Amino acid sequence: MSDRPDTLLRQFKILGQPVHLATDYTSWLIDRLQQGIGTHVVTMNAEIVIQASHDPELANIIGTADLVTPDGSGIIMALRLHGVEQPRYAGIDLGEDLLRLAAQPEHNYSVLFYGGKPEIVDRAAQKWQTELPNLNIVGIEHGYIDSQQQTQLLHQIQTTQPKIILVALGMPRQEIWIRDNFHLCPQAIWIGVGGSFDVWSGSKNRAPQYIRNLDLEWMYRIAQEPSRWRRALALPKFALLAVAERIWGKQKLAPK
Ligand code: UDP
Repeated sequence: MSDRPDTLLRQFKILGQPVHLATDYTSWLIDRLQQGIGTHVVTMNAEIVIQASHDPELANIIGTADLVTPDGSGIIMALRLHGVEQPRYAGIDLGEDLLRLAAQPEHNYSVLFYGGKPEIVDRAAQKWQTELPNLNIVGIEHGYIDSQQQTQLLHQIQTTQPKIILVALGMPRQEIWIRDNFHLCPQAIWIGVGGSFDVWSGSKNRAPQYIRNLDLEWMYRIAQEPSRWRRALALPKFALLAVAERIWGKQKLAPK
């Protein structure tokens, strides 16, 4: 398999939703940027799969996204049930890797941060500006703006044409927003990063590495935000359905 941007990545369907398989997602993305090809990235987890199973609009967005990465442990386990080995690549790690690449002098890609509470997005952007002084941040906007500010934001995106647009509105709001506005800046990487700004700003903690290694980051998030427990009900449902699909379903690797 080649991960060149001019070739299509292989995809595997989990409960009807695609996940793209690659050895180096960031190189694939940067190659596309250099060719002026924009990318809508969806970072896939078990919760999104379950939501998409009863939300045709979300399923359609995922189905037409240029890149769907394996963000959650549930996705990795479901792939493994079918004998497909793919390391997990959390959306927050992909976001960080893209920012580090963007700040490299040979790239100098402009970046826009959108989403989260006002002080959160400011602190998240500030963290990266301090850590990566060369990072070219061309826009910072929080995720609770009114329609007039929304119009201004879209105008700003259209005029500045950032190369990387990080959208932290939560799922599926961020996926819908990217789908609706992608055409304004069609050569950029647009990626929904969920709660990443909360972590980068220091207002929430990421699970320690040993918990991530145990595939229990989702449990750590519930412990930190007990209000997420209802959303977590999707996880056992996903596990049962994934096993049922393994036993009774038909699966095969296919190009996108
Ligand atoms: N958020 C936002 N605008 C909204 C609703 C949510 O900017 O109208 C932000 C919220 O402040 C948080 C992020 O979206 O920073 C959602 O994070 P979550 O961890 O819930 O992401 P998910 O797991 O849904 O991808």
